[in-house]
Amino acid sequence: MPAIIDKIADALHLHKTAFDSKVTVIFVLGGPGAGKGTQCARLVQDFGFCHLSAGDLLRAEQHREGSEYGQLIQTCIKEGTIVPMEVTVKLLKNAMAAALAEHRSGEGWADGRGRFLIDGFPRKMDQAEMFEHDVAKATAVLFFSTTEEVLLQRLLERGKTSGREDDNAESIKKRFNTYKDQTMPVIEHYEKLGKVIEIDSSESIDEVHAKTKSAVAKLL
Ligand code: UDP
Ligand code: MG
Repeated sequence: MPAIIDKIADALHLHKTAFDSKVTVIFVLGGPGAGKGTQCARLVQDFGFCHLSAGDLLRAEQHREGSEYGQLIQTCIKEGTIVPMEVTVKLLKNAMAAALAEHRSGEGWADGRGRFLIDGFPRKMDQAEMFEHDVAKATAVLFFSTTEEVLLQRLLERGKTSGREDDNAESIKKRFNTYKDQTMPVIEHYEKLGKVIEIDSSESIDEVHAKTKSAVAKLL
């Protein structure tokens, strides 16, 4: 949102999100194992995004000494359920504020602005609404799609070395169910708004990256 709109909103006492006029936000969705984290890392190189993985932020909070949410987060992750949105939205908002406070150099970061890839979020409609109401509006949703067979294969492979408590057959099944029941409606919601860019992520990392890069270039 241009700065002038912020000023008008202020004058009229209209509701504003925390960072709206300052940030470009792209949500990155797709089933567990779809390749979100891998492709986000490439986009950081290409365009200087700040990449925030909701799952990584939750895992860090889970292990933070003195966190009141450690047990809750651990249980949700293992069961493949969704941590209450207040926790995740707060972690994302704090991480965005910290990145903006760094005053990074590079394209997209001048004058207190920033560009963010929010990976693995929003996984449920209530999170989407809370984030867009309180934090910032999303410019687009990158949706990495592939078959459940491919997802399962990748997660079991990753599970050999990831050390993640949820990369095992039992947790994976639960994560797939949560994805279908809770996350697909989020993608459908943004689809109706014309904000979804769907990318088939069944192919190699390089092939998926090439398609993703050209799609994101058009957004910036
Ligand atoms: N999670 C959550 N809220 C979010 C994002 C993640 O509760 O907004 C939890 C949820 O239990 C999920 C787990 O964190 O199954 C792992 O998420 P991550 O994004 O790391 O998994 P990925 O999709 O990358 O495999
Ligand atoms: Mg991930």
